[in-house]
Amino acid sequence: MAVAPPGGGVDHGAVTSRPAPNATRGRALSRRSFLGGFAAGALAASGLAGCAIPKLPDLAGKDPFSLGVAAGEPGPDGFVLWTRLAPEPLWPDPAAPGGLTTGDIVLRYDIASDPGMRAIVRSGSAVAEAAYAHSVHLEVRGLAPGRTYWYRFTSGDAQSRIGRAWTAPPVGRPLGQLRFGFVSCANYEHGYFAAYRHLADQSPDLVLFLGDYIYEYVERDRPTVRRHSDDVEAATLPTYRNRYAQYRLDPDLQRLHAETPALITWDDHEVQDDYADRWSKTFDDPAVFLERRAAAYQAFYEHMPLRPSRSRPQGPALRLYDRFAYGDLVEFSMLDERQYRAREACARRPDAGGGHLEFDALCAERKDPSRSILGAAQEGWLFDGLGRSRAQWNVIAQGVLMAQLRQRVPIVGTVGHWTDAWDGYPASRDRFLAHVEASRVSNPVVVSGDIHSFWVNDLKRDFDDPGSPTVATEFVGTSISSIGPSYSQFMAWMPDNPHVRYFESRQRGYVFVELTPGHMTAHLRNLSDVRDPQAAVSTLRSYIVESGRPGAVPA
Ligand code: FE
Ligand code: CA
Repeated sequence: MAVAPPGGGVDHGAVTSRPAPNATRGRALSRRSFLGGFAAGALAASGLAGCAIPKLPDLAGKDPFSLGVAAGEPGPDGFVLWTRLAPEPLWPDPAAPGGLTTGDIVLRYDIASDPGMRAIVRSGSAVAEAAYAHSVHLEVRGLAPGRTYWYRFTSGDAQSRIGRAWTAPPVGRPLGQLRFGFVSCANYEHGYFAAYRHLADQSPDLVLFLGDYIYEYVERDRPTVRRHSDDVEAATLPTYRNRYAQYRLDPDLQRLHAETPALITWDDHEVQDDYADRWSKTFDDPAVFLERRAAAYQAFYEHMPLRPSRSRPQGPALRLYDRFAYGDLVEFSMLDERQYRAREACARRPDAGGGHLEFDALCAERKDPSRSILGAAQEGWLFDGLGRSRAQWNVIAQGVLMAQLRQRVPIVGTVGHWTDAWDGYPASRDRFLAHVEASRVSNPVVVSGDIHSFWVNDLKRDFDDPGSPTVATEFVGTSISSIGPSYSQFMAWMPDNPHVRYFESRQRGYVFVELTPGHMTAHLRNLSDVRDPQAAVSTLRSYIVESGRPGAVPA
């Protein structure tokens, strides 16, 4: 491949090869270079002309790359690189996100074939877009397949840390192994992110984020370890932005992103607990709630290594679901089970706007075949892709528990179902598992989050028939830090759920997966103490899925 000298510009998507005449390329991010822009911009943007002038941030000596770097969505010829300029990452003035009020800023990027950044293979300019809080989403294409690369951003005197990314082997080409972790539910207030650090220590090829990357609410009822900085529920663009910024300031999360390319989907807390499409659990006017969703989606985009060509938000819409194939070994289907889902069944009581327990005698809507957790378009896209996949393993990565969970109410004896997980959309689940069986999808494995506990499940063609075949396997990672549900209560339900092979809600951590053509081995990794930033990690259990045999067994 052509090797561009440092400073040589190459056009790629959002990249501009030459800075615009007045761009700030090559100028240090100092107080001086921003002062003029800040005063004018702050007044204009906040409409404060004639009122009290907000205090200017002092940017002298501040690191514009305080939020680190990230790579995502690796493909055979490239990936997306991310950073966001934020010399004052938690600056409270909405008119100055990250402390900046300037227009677009042109940065330089370098990609090298060595970790010391000596053998530069690509350099050019990338735009930190003011409209997106000075975030950069650089789509890099045209690199050699199956290689590891390192990258860095530069603005004037300031340089970002060096990140690592890789390109995949071409689709269909033999690939002997892939090692990846999957993570979910990182409530900053509930503990430290030591689990992210331990995953980074294992140097996985890939990390899958399965949702609840941030939590929008502020904990008022349960013990906390550290606090959300602004002490308000995120509900607007500035408050969502600062929430992401606070999480990204965490050294363990920042390091994981710098060292590991990511595939990312979301669950509910990136917007609001248990929301469904335009329906808020607090019964907000859907038109008003969609404005909140638009702000949340924009802040999500601003902080994630997502391709602008696919995922740039359009008002309250953001296309997130996608598939990624690595050699002949695996295809990941990343699902979005929030944006298009039907409203939770029988969401009518004041205490039952989002997820709640429903009983068949009282709620026929749950089983309505027209309801979908994915929406018709995504369901069709998923079925089509799985039907055509030639990969040995097909990983379906998504937010919420797919297996049925019969929840028997003591004394009364009736069985209920939780409406926010796939149990709230049994017809949708039925269509999915019927398709997996009928189209003979090769080694389907569902990985899930949301429920703050480890699960190893057989996904049955018919959960109500004990003799029904297992058609897929489900692993649920526990939370990175979020408080888990009651162990004794869930264990009391297990006799009604024989397809659950393992359950543990008292541990925080993640799942580390070793994938080869013959086996998928999932190591359930747990922390010694989520309240200890230096917590140790160990392997609680390991489960193995043999190719051709759905259902995991102890390794
Ligand atoms: Fe969660
Ligand atoms: Ca959730």
